[in-house]
Amino acid sequence: MAWKSRAAVYVEKDVLEFQEITIEDLKPDEVLLKVLLCGVCGTDLHLFHGEVPLAKPPVVLGHEIVAEVVELGDAVEDLKPGQRVAVDPVVPCGHCEFCQSGRPNLCPNMKNMGYHMTGGYTQYTVASRDRLFPLGNDMPLKAGALVEPLACVVRGYERLQPLPGSKVLILGAGPIGLLWNQMLQGVEAAEITQVDVVPERAEMAGELGARHAL
Ligand SMILES: [Zn+2]
Ligand SMILES: [Zn+2]
Repeated sequence: MAWKSRAAVYVEKDVLEFQEITIEDLKPDEVLLKVLLCGVCGTDLHLFHGEVPLAKPPVVLGHEIVAEVVELGDAVEDLKPGQRVAVDPVVPCGHCEFCQSGRPNLCPNMKNMGYHMTGGYTQYTVASRDRLFPLGNDMPLKAGALVEPLACVVRGYERLQPLPGSKVLILGAGPIGLLWNQMLQGVEAAEITQVDVVPERAEMAGELGARHAL
């Protein structure tokens, strides 16, 4: 059965409009999700202001989604209604050379929830099972909404492979910079310097453990 959902739809540059959207019947590998919380990424602001041509209105933005499973497609057997999940909003094609070589983030045919497909600024949204990661139902919702940005930081961290005693400079102390700050706290004897033009952000970098915060 098709579902109705109230959504904040990006209809044109600088305009979000509350609308009722229709969610079509689930495909076998899809899951209907009730959005519990959706973060506002810096990218969402760029999309909203029409600065990035990736999102073609009308579309529902939002890709830092924590949600509850409502209904399962026929082929989904390992999730249950009521289960809390984080969503990987990137939907690679699975067939190109990048997807086949384990680098789906470079897929030229990639689609994104919240750019090309309905994202998280809505009561209900849909994702395929392979984009969902079960969370403990006791995980705070705000932490759940940080899973997607944190995953970006973890990927960068794995590539950086910081050594004990590393001296690290983090440019910017917004949410991503502060997640980097916290990741790098785990590196033995790392010396972290973090800079930001906003004094409150630099201050928070210091509170979170940067040795030099400017
Ligand atoms: Zn983002
Ligand atoms: Zn691909």
